[in-house]
Amino acid sequence: MLTWPRPQIPQLPGRGDPVRVRDTSTGELVVAATGDAATLYVCGITPYDATHLGHAATYIAFDLLVRSWRDAGQRVRYASNVTDVDDPLLERALATGVGWRDLAIEQTALFAEDMTALGVVPPDVYTGAVESIPAVAHAVRDLLAAGAAYRVEAPDAAGHGRGDIYADLSVDPDLGRVAGLDRDEMLALFAERGGDPARAGKLDPLDPLLWRRERPGEPAWDGGELGSGRPGWHIECAVIARDGLGLPFDVQGGGADLRFPHHELSTSHARLLDAGQGARIHVHAGLVGLHGEKMSKSRGNLVLVSRLRALGENPMAIRLAILSHHYASDWDWTGADLDLARARLERWQRAVSGNGGPDATATLAAVRAALSADLDAPAALAAVDVWADDALRADGTDSTVIGAPGVVSRAVNALLGVRL
Ligand code: ZN
Repeated sequence: MLTWPRPQIPQLPGRGDPVRVRDTSTGELVVAATGDAATLYVCGITPYDATHLGHAATYIAFDLLVRSWRDAGQRVRYASNVTDVDDPLLERALATGVGWRDLAIEQTALFAEDMTALGVVPPDVYTGAVESIPAVAHAVRDLLAAGAAYRVEAPDAAGHGRGDIYADLSVDPDLGRVAGLDRDEMLALFAERGGDPARAGKLDPLDPLLWRRERPGEPAWDGGELGSGRPGWHIECAVIARDGLGLPFDVQGGGADLRFPHHELSTSHARLLDAGQGARIHVHAGLVGLHGEKMSKSRGNLVLVSRLRALGENPMAIRLAILSHHYASDWDWTGADLDLARARLERWQRAVSGNGGPDATATLAAVRAALSADLDAPAALAAVDVWADDALRADGTDSTVIGAPGVVSRAVNALLGVRL
């Protein structure tokens, strides 16, 4: 799958510190990647209702990680996916009378436009669910052969007794390490977030679907001995991450609602596929609400980036509004955030407009320090605010350092992704 254009990232003097992030599995602050190379997998969108502000906040959070890793001198390899065939997409296509492929193509393109406008660095490996099907079918066959998966009769399967394939979670002693939930919590979230605990014939209610046999009216692909069908969601990410990054990789990221079941189960699949480990750590972005309610399709209260852009909003103001909240917190989108962001952008632009300004050495260090401490964008913004206030006050005084505004402008661009 084609990505969007890569933004230019200016070079900065010196080098950033190793980036620490909070591993949501342990609650500990840990170095996100310890080697010369840093590997990241962020779960991509299912292409319908793209791109609401919750999506934007998630991808901007991990964009900060990519930028800070680069600034610390690490080689970054970033992989992501697009779940361009799955139940919610097919349901939306059916409900609106649009072909599912057309809906996926249109929404994937819109997402790419939004990411470009918001200055998000694209992934190095960007794979659609559909294009990953041969690799996923291969992996499901491997899990079957290893005794880590089993068949459940599909009620109306056209095949010859070859039903849907489920993972057998009982063979994974490390299940639960990602989200740390007890069984009742897992069962409740599994039912709430797309699982099928009541499906007859499963060995355990939590066992997740790996391969869904073809049903009338649904798209299907040749799965060899699996029969025609399509992949489950968790195995899709496990295989794309394994093939794009190798196992283990450093960080698996996504919105907080992916922690369970999606990240727990995709990590379990990755572990069983390679008899090793999936992501070393998991990092989750908070959820963005509107008027005290979770933004969701069913409530019809999505704020779309494309809608804000169509209304003439500067994408850099949208990005600054998002960055004014710590990525891991849950927060509410309000018009007031955007007003503040517009004012901040205008103030910063004025402050960097001259050749000289207050010395920027400490500002650059403060921005780097804030981001390397669990991607603390609000603290980074505050550091730039201090410099901008000084610059606007001290216009033309003796303390002016030639070139300082350029350093701040490049730092804001390279580290925060805000073009002034
Ligand atoms: Zn995923």
